Amino acid sequence: MIESLSSLSREQIAEQLQQLLPADQVETAQEVLDEARVDRFKKYQSVHGLYTAPRPAAVVSVRSTEEVSRILAFAQEHRTNIVPRTGRTGTEGGLETSVEDSIVLDCSAMDGILSIDPENMQVTVQAGVPLQRLEDTLRAQGLTTGHSPQSKPLAQYGGLVATRSIGQFSTLYGAIEDMVTGLEIVFPGGEVSRIKSVPRRAAGPDIRHIAIGNEGALGVITEATVQVFRFEPENYAFHGFLVDDMATGTAILREVIVNGFRPSVTRLYSPEDADQHFSHFSEDRCVVVFVAEGPASLAAATSAEIERVAAQHEHTRVDPELIREWFENLNWGAEKIEAEKRAMLETAHLGFTTEISVNWSEVVSLYDSIMTRIREEFPRAEDLTMLGAHSSHSYQTGTNLYFVYDYTIGCEPEQELGVYHAPINAIIVEETLRHGGSMVHHHGIGKYRTPWTEQEHGSAYPMLQKLKESFDPQGIMNRGTIFPAAGAIPPEAEKPELGQPQLD
Ligand SMILES: Cc1cc2nc3c(=O)[nH]c(=O)nc-3n(C[C@H](O)[C@H](O)[C@H](O)COP(=O)(O)OP(=O)(O)OC[C@H]3O[C@@H](n4cnc5c(N)ncnc54)[C@H](O)[C@@H]3O)c2cc1C
Repeated sequence: MIESLSSLSREQIAEQLQQLLPADQVETAQEVLDEARVDRFKKYQSVHGLYTAPRPAAVVSVRSTEEVSRILAFAQEHRTNIVPRTGRTGTEGGLETSVEDSIVLDCSAMDGILSIDPENMQVTVQAGVPLQRLEDTLRAQGLTTGHSPQSKPLAQYGGLVATRSIGQFSTLYGAIEDMVTGLEIVFPGGEVSRIKSVPRRAAGPDIRHIAIGNEGALGVITEATVQVFRFEPENYAFHGFLVDDMATGTAILREVIVNGFRPSVTRLYSPEDADQHFSHFSEDRCVVVFVAEGPASLAAATSAEIERVAAQHEHTRVDPELIREWFENLNWGAEKIEAEKRAMLETAHLGFTTEISVNWSEVVSLYDSIMTRIREEFPRAEDLTMLGAHSSHSYQTGTNLYFVYDYTIGCEPEQELGVYHAPINAIIVEETLRHGGSMVHHHGIGKYRTPWTEQEHGSAYPMLQKLKESFDPQGIMNRGTIFPAAGAIPPEAEKPELGQPQLD
């Protein structure tokens, strides 16, 4: 916990906020404040009603950029920590209020679709627009965002942009940073910057990237303009193959990509992870999944290449209909989140993930070394009910690996993160850094990967630090997120309890 930075007491903060905004936009009810202390990183503690992060002073619901500006001017003047939020699906502690008497700034009521421009193939939305609503609106007009994270039913544009999110169709449409053409952001003090939407420009460094991925640690994103694409589901072609090992699956993904083809979905599951999704046909083997789409001739050419590459490797074909059925049930809405909560309470069992990226040449050795180290070094290995990984986003130079680990909790809820998540996550992060990869592919650093932020960036870390110093000189924006801050996370989450990995 970090002690309050504010020059005001929590009562004064709440009172003064009520002068700045209509009273019904400032919430101080205990239950609301408790739920606002955490995100899904502490999902197990939350279902037990345990809230260890400090209770915020207030949750404010903003309705306009002007209101965001007013709150950030107030926060700067009184040095009060701000935690912005939208869809609340964050997984890495980015929403955790680690500073006493923080203000949680909820942008979800800023939910206007401001313009749909089919000629210039772009839409402009406010930060609180739910991705699902925008996608449904566009599809009715024959268009798509091309953005389909598994959290699509819940996530909103502010968080999607702030976390550098990525969707299942990324290999064709790109991730959010490829989609955002312009945006609006409000900085501490209340200054509003609008970055205009243009096809491309060479007018100095690309300042969109100061906002994209800032995780609320530099400013509050209030608006985004994103590209849209034609929606042609009639051309979808599903492909599935069983292969014997990760090396074969990786080779298939790589060949399709480096040969210049861009299926929208490009996936490889380890046998353990495949068993979670495809137990009715995976036969304890790796599963490779592709979806080809786009204009009919392009989708057909992509499908032909997928089949040609697969034919070079020993495989068993999967009925494409099984892949389509699986794909249509992949996303997580409110019902799955509620079911997960009930299951956690009933069974003391949960799943966690750590997603990283690495060059093609290192994929298999990284996968092997992480699996080996967790099996050999994790002291509660008997509680692990599943350990596996999949690749779900591929690039010319490499891919991501999304490690999934499920465990049955044999300790008190408040010890769970230290006993289970921290050591496993640390092995994945440290092995990845040792193999020259990135410790975080798409969930953001949040608060719980900050012990490695400096190592992740190496000699470029001062560049990142200077952004913080320039845009948030008083350190009031989501303190402890991206940038390590003493006291922001509990000591047991700082360092693993395992053997000392040799970091180069
Ligand atoms: C079931 C599930 C599946 C998921 N699948 C994916 C996936 O496929 N791909 C993926 O990339 N991620 C995924 N995620 C992670 C998460 O949903 C995404 O990162 C999403 O982009 C977060 O959006 P949100 O609106 O929920 O943001 P929130 O959870 O509200 O916020 C997330 C972070 O962004 C900051 N933030 C929020 N709004 C703003 C704003 N307006 N300005 C500045 N900072 C802001 C917050 O402070 C916080 O640090 C998944 C999460 C869940 C729970």
